Parts: sequence; C-alpha cells; structure tokens
Amino acid sequence: MRLCHKLNKEGASHGLAGRRQARPVRKASVTSSASVSGVEAERIDGRSVRRSLNQTGRYTRQPRDDPVSQEKMEEHGVGYSSTGLVAQMRENNNMWQQGQVTVKLAKAYGYCWGVERAVRMAYEARQAFPDKKLHITNEIIHNPEVNQRLRELDINIIEEKENQSKDYSEIGGGDVVIFPAFGATVQELKEFRDKGVQMVDTTCPWVAKVWNAVDTHTKKNCTSIIHGKYSHEETIATASFATQYVIVKDLKEAQYVCDYILHGGNKQEFLTKFSKAVSNSFDPDTMLDRVGLANQTTMLKGETEQMGKMLEATIMKKYGPEKLNEHFVLMDTICDATQERQDAMYELTADQKAVDLILVVGGFNSSNTSHLQEISEHKGIPSFWVDSASRISVENNSILHKTAHGELLETKDWLKEGPLMVGVTSGASTPDKAVEEVLERVFKIKDPSFTGIEPRKCAPVQVPTH
Ligand code: SF4
Repeated sequence: MRLCHKLNKEGASHGLAGRRQARPVRKASVTSSASVSGVEAERIDGRSVRRSLNQTGRYTRQPRDDPVSQEKMEEHGVGYSSTGLVAQMRENNNMWQQGQVTVKLAKAYGYCWGVERAVRMAYEARQAFPDKKLHITNEIIHNPEVNQRLRELDINIIEEKENQSKDYSEIGGGDVVIFPAFGATVQELKEFRDKGVQMVDTTCPWVAKVWNAVDTHTKKNCTSIIHGKYSHEETIATASFATQYVIVKDLKEAQYVCDYILHGGNKQEFLTKFSKAVSNSFDPDTMLDRVGLANQTTMLKGETEQMGKMLEATIMKKYGPEKLNEHFVLMDTICDATQERQDAMYELTADQKAVDLILVVGGFNSSNTSHLQEISEHKGIPSFWVDSASRISVENNSILHKTAHGELLETKDWLKEGPLMVGVTSGASTPDKAVEEVLERVFKIKDPSFTGIEPRKCAPVQVPTH
C-alpha cells in the first residue's frame, strides 16, 4: 500500500521538569514490584528522575516519522483515515449520502494529536527494535482495537491486577518499555531507568506540561489541587509528581475544598471524603493555605477554568488580592481537544429533529467518549455508543450499546425503515477506521446490496493541532 500522508507535526513543547519529592496515590498506586514500595517512593525526587532519563542513552520521547511505521498504521487502520469514508467526508463538509442514509459527522471528532502521536511512536518502536521484547506499562490509549493491533505486533500490554498493582517482573534488562500517552508514575520511571531497559516515552507533551505545573507548585510550597479522577492513569501519574495534593473530580468537590480554605471544617470528614484522593499524611488544616491548580487533560476545559476562578476568588477573599500570588499558582495547562469534541457534539445535537439518531464511537472505558454520549442523551436523541462495529448485527438489525451511565443494552430493529439521518462522532482515542466500519454496517443494514466504500485517491491529510 502506498503511504498517503505524512504526519510529522510536533507542535507543543515539553520541557522536563519534575518534582522534589513524590508520594504515591493512596489507593490507585500503579507501582508494581517489591523494589518500589510506598515507603521508598516517598524518597523519590521526581524532577531529577525525569532529568536523569535523558542521560541514560536509553530514552526517547520524540517520534521519528518513520514512513514504514506510518504505512503499517494505515494498513492496520490505527491512524487518521487518508482514503476511506471519513477522509472523503472531511472533503465533503463532513456529510455523506449512501442510499437512504445521510450521515453528518461532528466538526471535531476522533483521534487527538497526542493519541495519534503515541500510537505512531509504539509502531516506530516495534520497527526500530524488531528482535527485542516490547512492553507497554498500560493500554497505550483507551481503544480496544488499537491495543489489539499492538498485541498482534507482539507488544506486551501489562494489565493491572485486581488490587490495582502491576507486575513488571517479567521485563528483562534488554527489553523495550513504552510509556503510554497519559504518562507513567515517577516510581515507574525510576524503576525502568534502574532496570536498564530501553524507554520509549509517548507521554503527550500536554500531559508533561501539567507535570511542569505541578513541579512549580512544589517549588512554591503549594498543594496541588488536581481536577481529575483519582483512579485515572493520567491523574495517578500526575499525582505521583506532587508532594502534596488533593484530587477533585467536579465543581462540587472543588467548592467543598474552597469552603474548607475559607472557613475550615471537620478534618475527619475531609479526609474521609477524599480518602483515595489525597497525598500521604495530608492535613487540610495546614496544607491548603497555598495552592495551585492542575488538571487531567480529558476533563472539561470549562470546568477546569471555573475551578481556577473559584480558587482564585477564595484565596483573594481569605488573604486579600495583594497576597494572591503568594498563595495561589495558576498556569495554562488546558488541552482543548476534549472541549472541542464536546462543543462539536452540542452543535450536532442542537436541533433534536435534525437527526434521527446519534452514533458515538469509542472505547467503553474512555471518559471523554462517555461525555459525548451524555450530551446526546441529555438532548433526548436516541444515541448509541459502541466501541467497535462488532457490536452491530447486520443480520438482526440489532446493536449492543452502552449508555452514559454504564449500562450495556441490546436494541433490536434500531434502524427504522425509510430515509435516515445519522449524526456521528468519536472519542479522542478512536481511529477513523472504527467509525468507517460502524457506518458500513449501518449502510449494509439499510441496503443489503452495499459492498463497501471505494477508497479515494491519495491526498494530504489534515492534521489536527490537538
Ligand atoms: S487529549 Fe490533549 S493532552 Fe490528552 S493525549 Fe490528546 S492532545 Fe494530549
């Protein structure tokens, strides 16, 4: 197959700054082997660990833009579509007509810049080290098809055990270890540095930017307030670089913390509420006088911004505007990718009568995809979230789909007879191929004689900036 696109855009900067002293997330520590116990982790200096990786001569954090790997990605359908249905829709104002079915693709959808880059780096690692054992410390992204493709390339994905720990004992000194797009904890970085493995770090530069913000918090003696989910891999990694932190999942929890800053409160209640989401020995009575905001990049941009305003107002009220900079650190670490996909979904669903149904394509454990489904459900539009085309039965006209609340439902006769207007979008870790396969099943149900979409001639692919 001829390579049709060249995706070598490396836009964001990601300097390596780290933390003075890191502590593990209480419940969700992903550290693994006996050598990285919680006690030892307390003594790890995150900033120096990150800096030291470069000096090993066994560490890479940039794609090589290897054309063979890109060609393979295209062949495997794990990159941006350059010839298929989605590529053709992009050229046609995000619309497609196939018999009785009209499809409207959201303006922003699918792979974000950081996810495509991570998958590309994994493919390049396989190409660069054909004879070595390759491991990934986690799913590279939240997409089952892509992870399966990597397994087929003989890349071992280390699964989390029931107690949320990992066993890295099978990784040997000469092996290659890939860190996923959402990063790795400081304990993991240190473990692999010391183990003598080759390290391929696909951490998105926007995530690394958050780590730099957390580093600044420590330098300024601030507690990091992290907007995220305490069990999400990215937040686990970010928290591991912080000396003191509280993880808040939404505005309600942020308000609780703000109230505590202003008026104090019941310390035991605070520690119970955030039992899985604070650093070791956290004391809300003494550790909330200087704070900084950090975020999980897949959280809502608007919500993170609002949290920043809430904290700023709280600190100003407590210490006065002239002392704001002494007590509060706010840096721009927001990645727009998630918000852009949600804004596009609001636009797609703005007129409930304009579409008969919405298809949301993305991994069932992908939080940004679940938000897309949620938007559609709130609008009262029949909305079907699937992680792959295999959830759709052409023979039975049925679909196995997930709701935003996590229920798995089977709906029969889900495609009505006659003309059909379908809105479609996909999560930030979903390759275009997954959307194409889902739509092809829809076309096939509506028209049994449908045999597929003719690929278009090669042309440059639009590369997203996020
Ligand atoms: S959502 Fe943003 S931060 Fe996360 S991987 Fe994509 S580009 Fe990077």
